[in-house]
Amino acid sequence: MRRAKILATLGPTSQTQEQISDLIRAGANAVRISMSHGSRDDHEAMLNNARRAALEQDAPLSVLIDLAGPKIRTRSLKDKSPVLLQKGEKFVLTTKDIVGNGHEVGTNFSELPHVAEKGSQILLDDGSLELKVLDTNDTDVICEVVSGGLLYESKGINLPGTHLPIPSLTEKDRDDLNWALDMDVDYIALSFVRRASDCTEVKVIINEKNKRNFGRALLVAKIEKAEAIENLDEIIEATDGLMVARGDLGVETSVEKVPVYQKEIIRKSIARDKFVITATQMLQTMIDNPRPTRAEASDVANAVWDGTDAVMLSAETAAGSYPVETVRTMAKIIESSESIRDAYRRKSIKFSQEPSGRTSQALCKAAGYCAQEIKTTKVAVFTESGLMARRLSSFRSGLQTYALTTSWRARNQLALIWGVRAYYQELTKSTEDMLKKGESTLLNNEAVEAGETIVMMAGRLSGLGLSSSVVVWTIGENVPRR
Ligand code: PEP
Repeated sequence: MRRAKILATLGPTSQTQEQISDLIRAGANAVRISMSHGSRDDHEAMLNNARRAALEQDAPLSVLIDLAGPKIRTRSLKDKSPVLLQKGEKFVLTTKDIVGNGHEVGTNFSELPHVAEKGSQILLDDGSLELKVLDTNDTDVICEVVSGGLLYESKGINLPGTHLPIPSLTEKDRDDLNWALDMDVDYIALSFVRRASDCTEVKVIINEKNKRNFGRALLVAKIEKAEAIENLDEIIEATDGLMVARGDLGVETSVEKVPVYQKEIIRKSIARDKFVITATQMLQTMIDNPRPTRAEASDVANAVWDGTDAVMLSAETAAGSYPVETVRTMAKIIESSESIRDAYRRKSIKFSQEPSGRTSQALCKAAGYCAQEIKTTKVAVFTESGLMARRLSSFRSGLQTYALTTSWRARNQLALIWGVRAYYQELTKSTEDMLKKGESTLLNNEAVEAGETIVMMAGRLSGLGLSSSVVVWTIGENVPRR
């Protein structure tokens, strides 16, 4: 079974139920809907189609809503045509309401002339074009073109190293967040996170809105700013999971730092039991080609070996010519990478030098240790919220985790988590009944065979049969092994 998961972005070439069904069949475990593009109607249609596609195949599928955040952009251009910026020429970014041309273009960020400093660098379109600030006035930033090229409409503007006086959560984000929570989505991704308080603010809203339902949407902090790297430790504490958002990260810091930050973010996330997604340009050439470059195949494999929970596809599936082939290719690369010895550093579970003091950690380690001793890789965990399955996953020990949960939300959320397969399962007050039901669920899903000995466990469950326990269980014998 493939352990690292695939998160595919939906868009014009992957929005109907049929198209999404094809992505799931090809290996997509989760889908991302970006709030940076499209209307509310488009988003709602995609979300409903994704859920129908998953239901049709009885496949767990995580839905992640990616909030646009305070992305600064250029505005419209005459006839929607790109303009050529020539090296050495002047080019003006203005807050005036104009239609852009080869000399000036509007921006949605009214404070730009006040924050841009003389001599500083401004990057356009993910860094494809570079400007140097010559002067500013109340409405304009007058620049010199350092690296020229074609500028298309509505492209991103980055000011690396400049602190921007704008909140991480814009009014549009609040509106999109409320909608997403009303729609009971599984994950919320927050763009341009700078510090822990950005995450805490969103978590308060998630907890408030989701409190009537069982479980809640999980928060993903997108790491794409230098400030987020500086505050990485406190952000990891404040969020449920992270995304290495390599597109903006490469512009806001520098391209050569991206692999270094990727390793650091993945290592730190796993060490603190947080999930992590590696994103952007993973199979970029497959937007227009049926095959990836060798470098791209190696990039996916290296993210898997770093231990990422999931790898993400952006324009490859949202707007590319080969969305299904791209997912299939990614799945094959992951499987191949995981087949070698020492893939994902198959760690053995050891007694800690420095005990954590956490019951959940103790139970997960006990389960992992039992599995090693009885020579099984299979651990079934009864879980209400999915948290214990996420904890087991973060050992990256080579364990195959089967989550048995009463929560449809947890079942879908766990689709994104490394090495976890989740099934819906009623949990009962009787321990024996719960174990037997668990066994039937695993057998029905061909996860185990009669006669096989596995580990079953549960964290602290509210008044349910098997709570805070680890049991060695032989399938078909109906009694725990002593
Ligand atoms: C990124 O910058 O890598 C990213 C994932 O963000 P977005 O695609 O939303 O700009």
